[in-house]
Amino acid sequence: MTVAGALLGGALAGCGAPAPAPTPPAPAPTSPAAAPKKPPTMAPGPAGRTPVFERRATGGGGAADGTADGTAGKAGAEKGAAEKVVALTFDADMTADQGPRAQAGERFDNPELIALLRRLKVPSTVFMTGRWAEEYPAQAKDIGADDLFEVANHSYSHYAFTADCYGLPVVGKDAMARDVERAFSAFRRAGVRNVVPYFRFPGGCYDDTALHALTPANVTAVQWDVVSGDAFAKDAGAVAEQVLDGVRPGSLVVMHCTRSAAPVTGEAVGRIVPELRKRGYRFVKVSELMEG
Ligand SMILES: [Zn+2]
Repeated sequence: MTVAGALLGGALAGCGAPAPAPTPPAPAPTSPAAAPKKPPTMAPGPAGRTPVFERRATGGGGAADGTADGTAGKAGAEKGAAEKVVALTFDADMTADQGPRAQAGERFDNPELIALLRRLKVPSTVFMTGRWAEEYPAQAKDIGADDLFEVANHSYSHYAFTADCYGLPVVGKDAMARDVERAFSAFRRAGVRNVVPYFRFPGGCYDDTALHALTPANVTAVQWDVVSGDAFAKDAGAVAEQVLDGVRPGSLVVMHCTRSAAPVTGEAVGRIVPELRKRGYRFVKVSELMEG
């Protein structure tokens, strides 16, 4: 919990460095206009509870060194485990109250990381907050226009859906579904395509109340089994090592797409991708992992 905690606790005290001029987003590649096929989802749980797609370490390698959160495996733990596939996921975090910091020059985006994923041709899932899409609408649209990526929901506000979640402000039970829907609205306003009905709880924190409250949002919650440790990391080699140690067939890795809080993620990805390919892994989006 400590790794994500550092990020999610909002411990970023005034990153006051002046921002470089915004990098214009890369032009959207031409992609077929055909309607994308409907992404797989999981059936709701008892009494309509939001289903949770869980991963956990498999493949006889033992536990992934205790770094993974939310691995109390439920549904979905076996899917994809037979094949050497791995899903890299990137949380585009921006909290509802971080607008003034963005105004002051702090960069919550990471266009270089997106460009790198394109160069390396790594299909990936971006869990975007609605607030992020509002701050960076051109980038949000650009990511969603590229079939290499799918855009999933990481809430509008990046506030917590349970009490005691890394000190994040808490969304009230009655506001939870609205917060998720508000993020989808922000994606629509930015013109984001390739949106999938998956939701990542801020901090990965959820309980039965939250699963009930999100029933109207019709999403499948997505957890992970490998914590990259990229939040506030300074050593890309250590991040890469943690991921390479943790990945098993069918793994779902959580990383971040924000220079502000995860400045070495691109460098780590540059090491992780060729090594995992050498080990015979193929990169997939969460939708493909969920398909099994
Ligand atoms: Zn997050």
